[in-house]
Amino acid sequence: MNILVINAGSSSLKYQLLNPDTKELLAKGLCERIGIDGKFTYKPQIAGKETLSAVDVAMPTHAEAIKTVLNTLVDPKNGVIASMSEIDAVGHRVVHGGEKFACSVLIDDQVMAAIEECIPLAPLHNPANITGIKACEEVMPGVPMVAVFDTAFHQTMPARSFIYAIPYEYYENDHIRRYGFHGTSHHYVSQRAAEILGTPIELLKIVTCHLGNGSSVDAIAGGKSIDTSMGFTPLDGLPMGTRCGSLDVSIIEYLMENHNMSIEEVMNVLNKKSGVLGVSGVSSDFRDLEKAAAEGNERAKVAIDMFCYKTHKRIGSAAAAMNGIDVLIFTAGVGENSAELREKIASGLDFMGLKIDHTRNQVHGEEALISTDDSRVKIFVIPTNEELVIAQDTARIVSQK
Ligand code: AMP
Repeated sequence: MNILVINAGSSSLKYQLLNPDTKELLAKGLCERIGIDGKFTYKPQIAGKETLSAVDVAMPTHAEAIKTVLNTLVDPKNGVIASMSEIDAVGHRVVHGGEKFACSVLIDDQVMAAIEECIPLAPLHNPANITGIKACEEVMPGVPMVAVFDTAFHQTMPARSFIYAIPYEYYENDHIRRYGFHGTSHHYVSQRAAEILGTPIELLKIVTCHLGNGSSVDAIAGGKSIDTSMGFTPLDGLPMGTRCGSLDVSIIEYLMENHNMSIEEVMNVLNKKSGVLGVSGVSSDFRDLEKAAAEGNERAKVAIDMFCYKTHKRIGSAAAAMNGIDVLIFTAGVGENSAELREKIASGLDFMGLKIDHTRNQVHGEEALISTDDSRVKIFVIPTNEELVIAQDTARIVSQK
């Protein structure tokens, strides 16, 4: 069985074709600048097939982008499948499922309507995801499609975790609550850790740190997300590449009054000019920050210190939420690759039974146990694979049809 996984943005579309049973990736790539000038990238994973990197292809709409992807996948010379009939289903990443979706679902008219109802909760993301689904329906009629939500995994959180301390009617009428994101990633790496340990996940208390451009920490008790750092939107929680994370909301009023800023301008600063970029003035990219800090840039050092400290405290808070911790996992760009940041974050948690092993920690982008033999808590690096989860969920749901 082959599943096409689609992650549609407003002017971009990432795709992967994979076999969820064998976990084999056949091809992946990216359509960029859809509706502008169109750039197409194709990376077949089969020897002898040619890669395309950001080549010019007119893609006025998402449907044209999907057509380009399909034509390339079945191309007699560089394609990886013989015909479209070898694509059994499509799995779509959908950012926000609100309280309507606690798991992945087969897409039908009702599901589309419900995803549309969630637009006010994710005004930038859900419309793009809907465009991607409609484009596939147009180009691949009759092929079953499944929606996999970033928020679904966190729907198990109890009210005490998700309720904000504001008048309850804002929850009841406006659905303002903590939703959490990166659910597919937290779910995948926690399952993977249980598999590696050979312990049923129901018996484990796991803290997952998804640290990338966007970052979040999740408390997973018995396989269920019970508290997470991202909130109503992905702006909450840890400081990120360009996002501020949690902050005193009065700062918004102060900036508007004292800098004569509109709410749009303030939100733009908090989303795009804050985080480690805002503090360091150097970059949102942690590789640049580590380099600048090593060269003596003080603000880069403060930005890294701040990021590590807040992540470190969040691990403590996630463990407190579960009255314990058995496993700590690092994943995503920073979590998988930066030994230095992992060590900074996980050091000073020996009171909870965590001991990171300096030598074992020198791994980049590969699955590894990085705690010492006498560490009660197992610490892992586990590369995330959201596309594989989307493909597996899609295959499972389609085969139940
Ligand atoms: P993601 O959003 O998961 O793609 O992660 C992107 C972030 O991972 C960027 O800030 C990158 O700088 C960071 N990253 C990738 N590789 C490394 C590395 N070797 N060391 C430090 N940070 C890295």
